[in-house]
Amino acid sequence: MQVTWNPNTCCHAGVCVKSLPEVFKVEDGEFVIDPSKASEKEVENVVSQCPSGALKIEEQ
Ligand code: SF4
Repeated sequence: MQVTWNPNTCCHAGVCVKSLPEVFKVEDGEFVIDPSKASEKEVENVVSQCPSGALKIEEQ
């Protein structure tokens, strides 16, 4: 599973980083997503809560 993030769509509500900080985090000023740090269900749950639709799941 891969999660993509559209910086132009993101409204920086922070739902993702607050809900799953091990998966969605800012490192050296870059937003990084590591879906392997949580279960697919947890990641899907947070992606569905993103208010702007900036996060998208891509099955590989
Ligand atoms: S939840 Fe969505 S809108 Fe909010 S910070 Fe994360 S990607 Fe951006």
